[in-house]
Amino acid sequence: MSNDTNPVITINTATNFLELGLISPLLGRLTELNYEHPTPIQAQVIPSILDGQDLIAGANTGSGKTAAFALPLLQKIHKLQLQQQLPAYKKVSKNTNQVRSNDVTGLILVPTRELAKQVADSIKSYAVHFNGAIKTVAVFGGVSANTQMLALRGGADILVATPGRLLDLISSNALKLDNVQCLILDEADRMLSLGFTEELEKILALLPKTKQTLLFSATFPDQVTSLTKTLLNNPAEIQLQSADASTLVQRVFTVDKGQKTALLAHLIKQHQWQQSLIFVNAKNACNHLADKLAKRGIKAEVFHGDKGQGARTRVLKAFKDGEVQVLIATDIAARGLDIEKLPVVINFDLPRSPSDYMHRIGRSGRAGEIGLALSIIDHDDYHHFNVIEKKNKLRLDREQVAGFETTEFINNVFGSAEKPKAKPAGTGKKKRKKEPQINADIWLGNV
Ligand code: AMP
Repeated sequence: MSNDTNPVITINTATNFLELGLISPLLGRLTELNYEHPTPIQAQVIPSILDGQDLIAGANTGSGKTAAFALPLLQKIHKLQLQQQLPAYKKVSKNTNQVRSNDVTGLILVPTRELAKQVADSIKSYAVHFNGAIKTVAVFGGVSANTQMLALRGGADILVATPGRLLDLISSNALKLDNVQCLILDEADRMLSLGFTEELEKILALLPKTKQTLLFSATFPDQVTSLTKTLLNNPAEIQLQSADASTLVQRVFTVDKGQKTALLAHLIKQHQWQQSLIFVNAKNACNHLADKLAKRGIKAEVFHGDKGQGARTRVLKAFKDGEVQVLIATDIAARGLDIEKLPVVINFDLPRSPSDYMHRIGRSGRAGEIGLALSIIDHDDYHHFNVIEKKNKLRLDREQVAGFETTEFINNVFGSAEKPKAKPAGTGKKKRKKEPQINADIWLGNV
């Protein structure tokens, strides 16, 4: 392997987990979970991680990223434990001969509290046949730090953390990062993007120089790609478009301003989706839209950063359990959340960032399930949706729903828009130049 070029990854065509080199406590668990075959990202990255390579992995969300890093991490920690005859959190320090109390071996950084819990829960589930020998702890803000400090007593083999709370716990001496052997950044673009840059820099400075670093993300914008180069040592780069992408159908409906809520309510009632996740751009917009839907007889719950952690956890659980049918959320729900069989994601407001569009829609159509991503756009959104399409290399037909045809602008199926010509005084209704496609009633049967 050359040092100045990225290693070439041979396309791995392994069709079962045994061929990937995983050991029996993991294989047994995967059988119990009915994971019959590795997903493409798992087939590609598991051998590289087991080999100790640094990695940049880009794959669509819902592609099985968590298991892709969690399984080899668990295996490596198990191997370390066998070599040292003790769980990592009871290791004896070479220098002092004292039992180390607050070390961490594998550190996984994630951008949101919910993702921290979800990732830790998945890891604990994958690890059941290690019979409690591998300790996984999740730490995140919004809840008492005391419970997390208690959980960290004796250290942890794997710590899943949001950056802010991690730094708080380090400053309270609840844990140390000196002996981290593997660092994983999940949703790396967000971790490296503004809000988190400063915290991340502080965390990176506390980590040992020699370690394995893995970056997982659905998107890698240019500005973070350069940062990843400084963070990683001769990384393998794996870019996969999920083989499941075709199971997620994307559609965009144009509607007049002021008709968005009516169209949304119409769609929810007409299609009786078992569940729908609706994205808006502001916390107060969640409540506002919930009130408007309530007036139209639709009960919706809201999920945003102003809600207490207890309420956030309860609402998300109720949604995941199918007790809540309509959830209106800000982008805190856009990343990584795994809601089984979520039939539809709706962009009521378009996300500001084109990459967030991909994160949002990735909540549906996960792991090969059929999914639908709808964007409802009015004239003000039109230009921005073109940008989102361009950045994500998409081209969607503009569609209209019968009874909600636009009068504000003229559109065509190729995505170009013309402002309506000024209405001559006294001519009554505007005349559309070109009849848009009206096929919103042709739905995928099972969504
Ligand atoms: P993730 O992208 O990690 O959030 O995973 C998305 C969903 O796929 C989760 O519900 C996982 O349990 C599931 N999953 C991950 N790997 C597999 C696999 N090899 N076979 C079946 N389901 C999987």
